Amino acid sequence: MDKIRFASVWLAGCSGCHMSFLDLDEWLFELAKHVEVVYSPIADVKTYPENVDVCLVEGAIANEENLELIHKIRDRTKLLISFGDCAVTANVPAMRNMLDGSGTVLRRSYLELGDITPQLPYAPGIVPELLERVVPVHEVVHVDLYLPGCPPSADRIKAAIEPLLRGEMPVMEGREMIKF
Ligand code: SF4
Repeated sequence: MDKIRFASVWLAGCSGCHMSFLDLDEWLFELAKHVEVVYSPIADVKTYPENVDVCLVEGAIANEENLELIHKIRDRTKLLISFGDCAVTANVPAMRNMLDGSGTVLRRSYLELGDITPQLPYAPGIVPELLERVVPVHEVVHVDLYLPGCPPSADRIKAAIEPLLRGEMPVMEGREMIKF
């Protein structure tokens, strides 16, 4: 059986979901027998490739770069998994939605709290522009599987991935899989 072309992506999140992925510990060696990691924050790959079988998407959609990448991911990926609560609900990054637009958070972060050279990060092509609202992944593209938790536990991540290695679709149901 060919190896699964596996990716993981870090959008607007804290990287805690990826840390939980690393908590799979020795099972990562088992995983490595079945997957080829084609894109990930833990691999030095610059461009999201074509023909990806599975992608774990951590984080919400908060800026133009996230938006562009999630469309590319959807176009090039068979199974897109919303990985953790920031992807599933927008969670912590969406707290700024309660404020009066993205300008409020930019002013607070870069001007009011900037103690040396306060300035707004206006550098087109370098600093991605914030979207007015932070949204969960499924508000932008179709999601195939939801993996809730902040972060999802390593056991839950394994329960989502292990069936894929046998060519089966995971079923995430039951209290232990959706409650945290
Ligand atoms: Fe971090 Fe929790 Fe968001 Fe994962 S779901 S990126 S752990 S805040």
